[in-house]
Amino acid sequence: MLLHCIECAQRGQSCCRNVHIYLTRGDVDRIRQAHPVPDFYELAPLTPDYEDGGGDPTWNPAILDDTGRRRIMRQKENGRCFFLTDTGCSLPSDVRPLLCRIFPYDFREYGLCGISTSCPVADESHWLHILEASEMKQSNAQTWVSQLYQEIKAEQLDRPSRGAA
Ligand code: SF4
Ligand code: SF4
Repeated sequence: MLLHCIECAQRGQSCCRNVHIYLTRGDVDRIRQAHPVPDFYELAPLTPDYEDGGGDPTWNPAILDDTGRRRIMRQKENGRCFFLTDTGCSLPSDVRPLLCRIFPYDFREYGLCGISTSCPVADESHWLHILEASEMKQSNAQTWVSQLYQEIKAEQLDRPSRGAA
């Protein structure tokens, strides 16, 4: 595990706590198949930090349902992600939500665009080298960004009242 991640966990501030992880329909299906537990997600209303879709005009129209809510991972006590254990994430790496796999890379529909400032690795001038050396490779993240947009757009097309507009 990345040293920065260990330090985050020791401070109780990892990216697996107190965050709203959006789940695609594909995420839900993959998790259900690998980890058949009920109630691991919920529908949440839009919060102020989400109102501009993170600066991506594609995002909110694709992920919000007809009532303006989005599907997010449920949290347990103290804001811990439903699947976070004392030894880390209990989901296999290829089942984790796409957003979890992409993080800490920042992205738009066209691709990766840096690193999230909420990750302490962003403070390192050689952050890209750190991520690449820690198996958080740009090439993988780019693949998952492409998959993410395919999945959210497919669900948007299946949503009659919003459609693809
Ligand atoms: S990816 Fe970044 S924010 Fe998440 S645990 Fe690691 S160092 Fe912390
Ligand atoms: S699914 Fe796993 S990686 Fe994603 S927030 Fe939860 S514990 Fe962290």
